[in-house]
Amino acid sequence: MFKSSISYLIGAIALSASMAVPAQSRFDDVTMKNTALAGSVHMLQGQGGNIGVSAGEDGILIIDDQFEPLAEKIAAALGKLGSDAPKFIINTHFHGDHTGSNGWFHENKDSTILAHENVRVRLLSNDKNNETALPVITYQEGVNLHFNGETLHVWHLSNGHTDGDSVVWFEEPNVLHTGDLFFNERFPFIDLQSGGSVAGYISAVKSLLKKIDSDTTIIPGHGPLATKADYEAFLSMLEETRDIVDSHKQNGMSVEEVVKEGLTDKFNSWSWGFINEEKWIRTLYNG
Ligand SMILES: [Zn+2]
Ligand SMILES: [Zn+2]
Repeated sequence: MFKSSISYLIGAIALSASMAVPAQSRFDDVTMKNTALAGSVHMLQGQGGNIGVSAGEDGILIIDDQFEPLAEKIAAALGKLGSDAPKFIINTHFHGDHTGSNGWFHENKDSTILAHENVRVRLLSNDKNNETALPVITYQEGVNLHFNGETLHVWHLSNGHTDGDSVVWFEEPNVLHTGDLFFNERFPFIDLQSGGSVAGYISAVKSLLKKIDSDTTIIPGHGPLATKADYEAFLSMLEETRDIVDSHKQNGMSVEEVVKEGLTDKFNSWSWGFINEEKWIRTLYNG
């Protein structure tokens, strides 16, 4: 009796101990990599959308904040740049790989979150989101911030990746954070269910290319740091693949037939885990 209750007790302790240990997370091995760019601007990469940082006398401002399990790692990386408490967070759009740490930074570091109005609407419509994750300052067309001696232009572009996209151009250091209006070296995800469109995406890329020059450093939403030439190559890929799919569609081919036909080998390198050739063709066909 005594022995069995001991073993019961040990078993119960072991069970509760194993329950207390959080499940192995896909974020456990993620490390934050910082790259210093021009002026006050840095790029922080972990997992999810690339984070833009302004670090200087006024403190820290970040553009996007990846996933919540990474919040403490992001804060630690920001601490090395001067403060682990960003005064401002700008969200380029509502997707979880760009807004996941909003609530954590708002609650723990008192950060003020800014975004296009539709980012707030879309975050609010998801029951899983806490009130603290919502942007507290929203805008329609854009807003300027004067921070760390630089001018940040936040521009909204309509119906591209989603219906609430913003990009941020740091004027003096000439750095552009495109959010997911640029997947460098990869087929992009276009969220057709959330107000994104292929035509809007391409026209957003074109209008941004007109605003920048060959000296501009580009932080893409995903993929490595880029130049204007990289963004032009991305636009060419978008237009050429759209034309291929459009002409098949006009010839009466179904989406399944176009997927079977495929694109030309020239575009193989743009295919990646999340958006492979098939998914990209379906987006072009439907979008
Ligand atoms: Zn993204
Ligand atoms: Zn996105």
